[in-house]
Amino acid sequence: MSFSSLGLAEPLLRAVAEQGYDTPSPIQLQAIPAVLAGRDLMAAAQTGTGKTAGFTLPMLQRLMESKRKVSPNRIRALVLTPTRELAAQVGESVRNYGKHLPMRSHVVFGGVSINPQMMATRRGLDVLVACPGRLMDLYNQNAVKFDEVEILVLDEADRMLDMGFIRDIRKILALMPKQRQNLLFSATFAEEIRELATGLLNNPAVIEVAPRNSTAERIEQLVHPCDKANKIGLLSHLVTSNDWQQVLVFTRTKHMANRVAETLDKNGVSAAAIHGNKSQGARTRALAGFKDGNVKVLVATDIAARGLDIDKLPQVVNFELPNVAEDYVHRIGRTGRAGAAGHAISLVAADEGKLIKAIERLTKQNIPCEQVVGFEASRETLDNIARGIGAPLRKEPRDPSEQRRVAPRPQGQGQRQGAGRSANGGNAGGARTGNGGKPKPQGGQRPADGAGKPAQARRPRRSTHNQ
Ligand code: AMP
Repeated sequence: MSFSSLGLAEPLLRAVAEQGYDTPSPIQLQAIPAVLAGRDLMAAAQTGTGKTAGFTLPMLQRLMESKRKVSPNRIRALVLTPTRELAAQVGESVRNYGKHLPMRSHVVFGGVSINPQMMATRRGLDVLVACPGRLMDLYNQNAVKFDEVEILVLDEADRMLDMGFIRDIRKILALMPKQRQNLLFSATFAEEIRELATGLLNNPAVIEVAPRNSTAERIEQLVHPCDKANKIGLLSHLVTSNDWQQVLVFTRTKHMANRVAETLDKNGVSAAAIHGNKSQGARTRALAGFKDGNVKVLVATDIAARGLDIDKLPQVVNFELPNVAEDYVHRIGRTGRAGAAGHAISLVAADEGKLIKAIERLTKQNIPCEQVVGFEASRETLDNIARGIGAPLRKEPRDPSEQRRVAPRPQGQGQRQGAGRSANGGNAGGARTGNGGKPKPQGGQRPADGAGKPAQARRPRRSTHNQ
């Protein structure tokens, strides 16, 4: 199946060819004809599936065909995204795919001066890509009005809800003409997303390209059990001993992202952190340095990294596991794009046994586990990993001084010896073990799976600082 058979017009086909794509991805195969036919869309697709082209190409064609003239301060198509990075990337896609069309587009997000954005919207825009917070600021200053919107795209809608943007989104929806085309993209069809979709979408085409929460099979995954205090040393060792040139590292908190990046830098490994407390300039510089090879290690929190599209990123490291198992899938999805090989390593400490078990349940896999010589984990760590024990952790403490709640040590841990080094120690050089290398508990009871569920209540958080 080729792009031309999907009904795309010549200027778009030319732009696609210039990008070097010859075959539409599964989401593009389904989304493009549906959007061209004028249908609303509800699509479950993550970054890496080609979803951006899946909505941008037909959206541009619809705008081209409708030929409406846009009035000052009005927009014809609005794409809402949760983060600045994603907005910038979608904006770039709009420019790339629309380069042979006479379309005016712009990107707006917080953290940078609003004045140039007000200038850009003055003449009206065919496409505006925006983060909700800054868009509302522009609306409140009369720089943008929504009464000529023909197409609305909510990209990564699940994340926008997580970040507390639902109020802004509902306000914006109420200001739009009723007659319009709506496209909703989300990594999952969680209950809140379905609720939002019910009020928003009109008889949508529903597309689910990958089964929900399936981990990309092409990504080679590995767990290194590790004591907490040794994590930075182990990471540093992995980067240098494997001669990694580009690795994206995830931490749970901004504070830890800074600490890891600073320590690596001190150890002679070029590293930078990106998270919501960094200025937009610092984030852009860090990302540019990472993309052009000057920065080997980019350390990011989940929200900052969401939507990052780094071409052929070979390696992801989970310095800390995410509290929400689904975020693991998003994280490792940064690597192994477009058929390229990808590797994801998780450094798992004593309090993360519960989290790794939740991830394995969600992704329906056993992740191989290997000790690293010189950084062998203690018995307790190995035992906790094997048994899925760990502290229930809160989602992203805002203040690094906030204490984690520590779960009481479970009783009756069984024979530690079997769960410890003896199972794994032979592998210390890095060879895999047959059962995935995970030490099996002996005698002790595994906690009921459900009990190990990580914090899943994603309370809406208003966090414009993350935009
Ligand atoms: P996305 O899921 O939209 O973030 O896209 C992920 C990556 O896949 C981007 O780098 C795109 O440039 C690339 N891409 C999108 N569509 C195709 C395609 N049909 N063939 C090859 N690469 C593609």
